Amino acid sequence: MDFDDTPDEAAWRASVRGYITEHRDQLGDRRAGNGRDNVPAAKASQACLYEGGLVGVTWPVEFGGQGGTPMQQAIVDQEMARAAVPALLNLIGIGMCGPTVIAHGSEDQKQRYLTRLLRCDDIWCQLFSEPGSGSDLAALRTKAVRDEDGNWHITGQKVWTTGAHIADYGILLTRTNPDVAKHKGLTMFVVDMHAPGVTVRPLRQMNGGADFNEVFFDDVVIADGERLGDVDNGWRVALTTLMSERVSLGGGGTDIGLGVDSVIAHTAQRISALSADRQALARQDLGRAYVASLGIRYTGYRLLSAISRGEAPGPEASAGKLAGTVAARAMADLAVRLIGDEAVYAKTLDGEGTWQHMQAVLPGMAIAGGTDQILRNVLGERVLGLPTEPRSDKGAPVRPSTTGGQQ
Ligand SMILES: Cc1cc2nc3c(=O)[nH]c(=O)nc-3n(C[C@H](O)[C@H](O)[C@H](O)COP(=O)(O)OP(=O)(O)OC[C@H]3O[C@@H](n4cnc5c(N)ncnc54)[C@H](O)[C@@H]3O)c2cc1C
Repeated sequence: MDFDDTPDEAAWRASVRGYITEHRDQLGDRRAGNGRDNVPAAKASQACLYEGGLVGVTWPVEFGGQGGTPMQQAIVDQEMARAAVPALLNLIGIGMCGPTVIAHGSEDQKQRYLTRLLRCDDIWCQLFSEPGSGSDLAALRTKAVRDEDGNWHITGQKVWTTGAHIADYGILLTRTNPDVAKHKGLTMFVVDMHAPGVTVRPLRQMNGGADFNEVFFDDVVIADGERLGDVDNGWRVALTTLMSERVSLGGGGTDIGLGVDSVIAHTAQRISALSADRQALARQDLGRAYVASLGIRYTGYRLLSAISRGEAPGPEASAGKLAGTVAARAMADLAVRLIGDEAVYAKTLDGEGTWQHMQAVLPGMAIAGGTDQILRNVLGERVLGLPTEPRSDKGAPVRPSTTGGQQ
């Protein structure tokens, strides 16, 4: 890959930078806090970027996108990070829900939902995980039953749903057939989060925020026209979402998580003040963090190169997310160790909070969108070709059996 901008890319970068500079006041500052704390301002920021053609750059023009390249999108991401523009409020909608609607939705759903999602008229969430099924997602039990009019009745519970408390719509994975192998009896829907029977309860996190929720469905009615993909074929639809999620979390050509420059800027003085032996150890840690951050960046570029060549991101996209998480956690731990008490109030250069906040946020990254352990399984089995994990429930139906079947 050539790391310099081509003339076209340089022109695009200049126009993106120009738009951001011109609208700086409307866009807000990511160091001022989490967008979910001030929804109207975060909506206005995304709408402003949308008006400038900087949201959903690779999406088709007819659905509000620019029909652009992944490289153009990466340049937008880089310029937003450079100018500390807040992350898009509808990131889950754009990164996960939208691509799923584009790949599996009807023409009517695409027309009704996609442009509004990009402009942040509607906020979206992803309703997959349940109390008994996270890594083993296909074991989920939220039930969808069809009535004689063709409508679906949903009953069950989801958990860890990011942004459900501010969402207007969600993509909802349900069980429509408990009598077949667990991956085969799932169906995906678009659900109106304001529909009767939907209850959202926020959960408090260890970093002080409340971005997650429990969501309860009590006989919620969904029209068949809101189905995404075929009945009982929801696993295939969910794979589109999950792969989009890993690419989105895995960087896709930009630096993710914590920039090592930020760590160096905050710790350089501290390191010089240390005794010689402790200084040597700190420098080694910093060197490791630096190498890891380059690893993230180049893994992201490799992924981006594949996408630019028109190749679908494969399981190696999981490596970007895994590498990014491991490196960002190591850097946050190192910074907090070196900065000491100041970590409670000193803000990172490129983050939304203090160093201590960052240290408390990052363990969640090692869980969201596939835990570190699950991603290692994916890499072992599907990239390195190692023997697969023993899976005693493979092919078994989810419905409890009176003869001692799977629970
Ligand atoms: C920040 C954040 C945001 C999230 N947002 C959403 C969201 O918007 N929507 C949504 O649906 N969900 C969301 N989740 C939930 C997330 O997808 C699940 O937490 C995740 O899939 C893990 O599932 P679990 O919590 O049930 O843990 P479990 O699957 O019960 O795992 C527990 C532990 O066992 C390990 N483990 C499990 N199976 C294996 C295996 N086969 N091999 C080796 N180790 C294994 C795991 O790695 C983990 O350490 C979010 C989570 C986080 C942290």
